[in-house]
Amino acid sequence: MKKILFVTSECVPFVKTGGLADVVGALPKVLNEKGCDARVILPKYGAIPQRYKDEMRYIDHIYIKMNWRSQYCGIFELKMNGVTYYFIDNEFYFGGPTIYGPIHEDIERFAFFDKAVLAALQVIDFFPDVLHCNDWQSGMAPVLLRAHYGYDGRYNAMKSIMTIHNLKFQGVYDKKTIADVCELSMDYFTPDKLEFYRDASFLKGGIVYADYITTVSPTYAEEIKSDYFGERLNGLLNARSASLTGIVNGISYDDWDPATDKFIYHNYGIKDFIEGKKVNKRALQHDLHFDENPDKLLIGMVTRLTAQKGMDLVECVLDSILANPNIQMVFLGTGEQRYEDVLRFFEWKYSGRVSAQIKFDNALSHKVYAACDAFLMPSQFEPCGLSQMISMRYGTLPIVRETGGLKDTVEPYNEYEHTGTGYSFRNYNAHEMLGRIENAYLTFALHKDDWTAMQKRAMEKDFSWNASADKYIDLYNRL
Ligand code: ADP
Repeated sequence: MKKILFVTSECVPFVKTGGLADVVGALPKVLNEKGCDARVILPKYGAIPQRYKDEMRYIDHIYIKMNWRSQYCGIFELKMNGVTYYFIDNEFYFGGPTIYGPIHEDIERFAFFDKAVLAALQVIDFFPDVLHCNDWQSGMAPVLLRAHYGYDGRYNAMKSIMTIHNLKFQGVYDKKTIADVCELSMDYFTPDKLEFYRDASFLKGGIVYADYITTVSPTYAEEIKSDYFGERLNGLLNARSASLTGIVNGISYDDWDPATDKFIYHNYGIKDFIEGKKVNKRALQHDLHFDENPDKLLIGMVTRLTAQKGMDLVECVLDSILANPNIQMVFLGTGEQRYEDVLRFFEWKYSGRVSAQIKFDNALSHKVYAACDAFLMPSQFEPCGLSQMISMRYGTLPIVRETGGLKDTVEPYNEYEHTGTGYSFRNYNAHEMLGRIENAYLTFALHKDDWTAMQKRAMEKDFSWNASADKYIDLYNRL
């Protein structure tokens, strides 16, 4: 039975800002069902809902040396759904209302967290076979494992994995600060180790020191070895390509199931999705003050409003998309001010056909996935992406750019062979996207049977964690 400890900065249902939280929230549970002993460790943030804090059990506390200070580090435990979660407590670092802050604060916060994780193993008396680190916030753990604990056989026997959920975020800061807070000598800050263009990088540390590197889709694993996607780490990733693989994420079938979803207007399954989706669509159209007409193509987006998610393409051709009076669009997202403003402007301009829901609203996101006919996701890059898989599970056909996980999970429609589960375009080009949206509209309006057959194929696809969890277990065994 393999013992795994997931080191993470966020995890559903405690705290979430993105896909990482969904992954760490779902994967350990599935691994345990398959006979592993997978546990999770994360900071005890102020933002964790009180009901979970009330259930936590205090184990013990230790002190972590941070430069010239000695910092309290409480260790708490919570068992839920067959998974043991550990929480690192320190009010000074994690007591604030948000989980991430300015980078200069995050560097010290997560240096503390990574040190605390390694020290805590002795307190919880759990020495995993694999320390499974996620994104830059835990990137220093594989480094410190080798730098500080080389003398201890229990630590020496451990392997580490660095999983990259998004290569763009790297935890880069000046060498001196990182050396201080991590208690590392300057020998570690050479170009073959932690140095990153005269600064130093947490994520690079993880990539150099981990025994294995994974990312969240096979296509993204290839892409990040190139200049365009490599975020200046492509040289290193090429050098480590023998120890780099991509395993596509799954989605939680408990949270995302149209047959049992409590947030949607009307539950449906594979047998009655045509009727079921019709009810959901009409109800959402009603709530958004749209024309309640089943013949309008309702397109949704649920996303962070950033350049990564292709918002520039959307902005560029939104007028052309809406030149077709039979298209309605609903946007649910928050992010960069400029994109929020663009969407508000279009909501005003196309009142009754465009809705800009500028907020984070989980319940509404479920309604959008269930009610829409199509889901737009034209990302510039996409390590894996969950939204397109959720859409397909709800019979909502994705229109995506062929990059990263989008390419691995959406099979493009072929009208002659009657295959495919969505629409895709190759280049990061607004008019290619527009062309694909027009194709989707034509199938929707003129070839209803093809459209519903495609919805059925999409809903039948397996996006559960089952297959991917097997791949992780296989990797743990190989290590
Ligand atoms: P990323 O992790 O890059 O943001 P993913 O597609 O992997 O993108 O995951 C995004 C997740 O966050 C999905 O579950 C999506 O439904 C959810 N989400 C994004 N924006 C919002 C929002 N404004 N309201 C509710 N859920 C959102």
